Amino acid sequence: MDRVAVIGLGYAGLPFAVALAHRGFKVVGVDTDEEKVELINKGVSPVYEPALNDYLKGVLERGLFKATTSVAKAIEESDVVFVFVGTPTKADGSLDLTQLENASEDIGRALKDEGGYKLIVVRSTVLPGTTEGVVKRIIEERSGKICGRDFGLCMNPEFLREGKALYDIFNPARIVIGEYDKRSGDILESVYRRFHGEKMPPVIRTSIVNAELIKYAANAFLAMKVSFINLIARIAQRLPRGDVIEVASGIGLDPRIGRDFLDAGLGFGGSCLPKDLRALIKLAKSLGVDAKLLEAILEVNETQIDEALELLRRALGDLRGKRIAVLGLAFKPGTDDVRESQSIKLVKRLAKEGAVLHAHDPLALDAAKRVLQGIGNVAFFSDVYECARRCDAIVVATDWGDYRNLCFERLGETMARRVVIDCRHIIDAVKASKAGFKYYGLGIYTE
Ligand code: NAD
Repeated sequence: MDRVAVIGLGYAGLPFAVALAHRGFKVVGVDTDEEKVELINKGVSPVYEPALNDYLKGVLERGLFKATTSVAKAIEESDVVFVFVGTPTKADGSLDLTQLENASEDIGRALKDEGGYKLIVVRSTVLPGTTEGVVKRIIEERSGKICGRDFGLCMNPEFLREGKALYDIFNPARIVIGEYDKRSGDILESVYRRFHGEKMPPVIRTSIVNAELIKYAANAFLAMKVSFINLIARIAQRLPRGDVIEVASGIGLDPRIGRDFLDAGLGFGGSCLPKDLRALIKLAKSLGVDAKLLEAILEVNETQIDEALELLRRALGDLRGKRIAVLGLAFKPGTDDVRESQSIKLVKRLAKEGAVLHAHDPLALDAAKRVLQGIGNVAFFSDVYECARRCDAIVVATDWGDYRNLCFERLGETMARRVVIDCRHIIDAVKASKAGFKYYGLGIYTE
């Protein structure tokens, strides 16, 4: 079972495929996007992820990985098929299953002509009921084969973080295997035992529906921590000497709470937390379950940008015509992904208020230009100091390491006013103040 196919070579699928090959599996990656496949086969990752290019080149050189647009070819050359296609949400919050349905059709057609038993593993995030109700149904219809007899089926949620994808794939906190039957679960567990060797993480073997729900429950809980601390930040900011960072440390040391995901900021974004939360709310409602708690998480997130605007107004008054540098456009550091980025939403809100925007990001400028196309008065800069020139304020929106050591003397020389709004608590407030900046930290009381 060391011949593997990975269908969908995006932010999650490509690092997983490359990691499997790195550990000696023979991997065929599939994507419908010909341009992506071409790049990947040349050793260039179409998505940014630290170290991924080096690993990709390594496995290509060792002949352990190749990419193709043909599902049939990949299935012919593999025993286990991981499905990593996108599952975005539609405007009404429900999942858009087009990519998954197409991939299932392709797998079904390919299995029709196959003699041997294959294991299909759904790794895309899908709502409870989807793996059996959509993937299994379509594969059986198209192939004429029977799940459990001719092919196996698992739902195996992925928990990686973009920007730390390879680390998370090599060091997962747990592996959740939702199995259609024991045979399917045994095969998948053996793949992971081979992959992790001595360092095998805890494994949870469960039903497919539980595995599907575990992924949503995990993401909703993480989103809840973020919105919770953001709400506490709003309170702390309004209390003389209040400071959300100290409150987060004070509660985070309690092992029942934990410090992770308690960094106040502009709110959560990206391709997972917001969409998964919306989909879970929709599911809860369809089952007659009151989803107020989940809805409140989204509501806090959606209004968190107002907090940054409030700080800017306190510093600058009316924002019309004010020139503002927004540092960080990716939804978090370490990635070029701007999907549902709160910084992008901030730029849009500021533009709507009539501000003139200067935008900077170490990696995500191209992606940001695409999503901000047509939004008036936004200029893009690849140099932070150029970005800040003539501005009335700097807003640190994403916690890129690059922003930790900014030279405030140099920034101040060319700025119209010396104001910094630190939404991610990475600026040395003392250094900034020494250089004549008025410092505002989100969640921190300012006179
Ligand atoms: P993505 O959009 O970056 O990648 C999806 C890829 O699938 C694209 O390259 C697309 O061209 C390809 N594709 C679409 N239809 C296809 C088909 N029929 N056959 C072959 N390829 C096809 O998405 P992503 O961020 O990698 O997410 C993929 C899944 O993994 C989603 O369900 C997501 O919720 C889940 N997930 C993502 C992350 C993450 O951090 N990005 C983490 C955990 C889970």
